[in-house]
Amino acid sequence: MKINKAYKFRLEPNVEQQVILNNLVGSARFVWNQMLAMSFEMFANNEFINATNLVNKIMDLKNNPDFEFLKSHSNAVSLQQKVRDLASAWSRFFDPKVHARLKENKKKIRKLKFFKLADGTEIQLRPLMPRFKRKSDGCDSIRLVQFDKYCRIEGNRVKLPNGIGLVKFRKSQDIIGTIKNVTISKKSGRWSVSFGCEREIENPIHPSKTAIGIDLGITKLISTSDGQYIKPKNSFKSNQVKLAKLQRQLSRKVLFSQNWQKQNRKIQKIHHHIANIRHDYLHKITTNISKNHAMIVVENLKVVNMSQSASGSAVQHGRNVKAKSGLNKLILDQGWGMMVDMLEYKQHWQGGLLIKINPRYTSQTCSQCQHIAKENRRSQARFECVKCRYVANADFNAARNILAAGHAVLSAEGGCGKGRPMKQKTCGLREKAT
Ligand SMILES: [Zn+2]
Repeated sequence: MKINKAYKFRLEPNVEQQVILNNLVGSARFVWNQMLAMSFEMFANNEFINATNLVNKIMDLKNNPDFEFLKSHSNAVSLQQKVRDLASAWSRFFDPKVHARLKENKKKIRKLKFFKLADGTEIQLRPLMPRFKRKSDGCDSIRLVQFDKYCRIEGNRVKLPNGIGLVKFRKSQDIIGTIKNVTISKKSGRWSVSFGCEREIENPIHPSKTAIGIDLGITKLISTSDGQYIKPKNSFKSNQVKLAKLQRQLSRKVLFSQNWQKQNRKIQKIHHHIANIRHDYLHKITTNISKNHAMIVVENLKVVNMSQSASGSAVQHGRNVKAKSGLNKLILDQGWGMMVDMLEYKQHWQGGLLIKINPRYTSQTCSQCQHIAKENRRSQARFECVKCRYVANADFNAARNILAAGHAVLSAEGGCGKGRPMKQKTCGLREKAT
């Protein structure tokens, strides 16, 4: 079985190397924006937008005398990759499935934005359409493919093209596998390098034989069917006050002025800091769970109605009430999805199984006698079955139901599940059943 893994390190270019790198990421951003403007024209003319069409237009840009710098200050491979990224952004936009999911999640509609076409008419920028990139976003990157052809690694240094030469990176772990591509990114002034590797491994057999059900929540990030709880790392909370203050200050500054830029960089730094902490934390949790359990059962987040009972009446508080409030919710949504994704690929690597089940009634069902009733859920934390009087923590009860549902999915397939194909089959089955 082939597995892909990325190894990311802090990159430490010297001053001259930074100049070249800045030019490279800058021209890649420039090409993205130019191509995006062009593709809006194509969109308005009902022209077909795909990778080949867009890649073919790179030459036009390079030959434009106004954009002379592209010839000397860009990397051809990375420009092509950037344009391919744009093409896949468009294909997501054209994918009806993605739109259906967006509708389901009922994301807040932002203020309408428009793009002015060459003939003076405007088109409305719709949700999911690719967006223009700004330098002030503080987030730039280029990707090079055919690593062996253009780059190589020497100890803790990587040789990069365009006369950059050998650049030091903080090699904190060994890079295993064949490097296929390399991404160099700059986030809030910090450079990093990520090597995309491919490795062939024998079909792994998970060392453990246990199964676990997991309930995802707000106050307890994870409740497991064996009675464990893991708290969320509220990296956001502790930085919230600081962030709010900086944002207030930003609003008083002249847009895109020197001071504004400076302030904006500070804000981005905090955002990245928060994201890093959360990311690390989720990695630790998911690695641990994945190592210890051959089968992990979670609720299918795509089916979980995030807004369900979120408004919460005075009598019956929904489990998402707190999280509904603005940014907190957004971060949590992302956290859950990210966590399930991590569990999924980590199980895949370990030869384990991840089963996503329909979340229906998992919180209202008695895990002892299977009686389903709204009244079972006495409060946010307490579960008491109206039929058999079984009392438990509500999240623990839900986690046990989730595990049971996972077993049910497996037995519907017939026999105990081993390996990847089973998981995919069961997923299909669930989707049909819901
Ligand atoms: Zn009961």
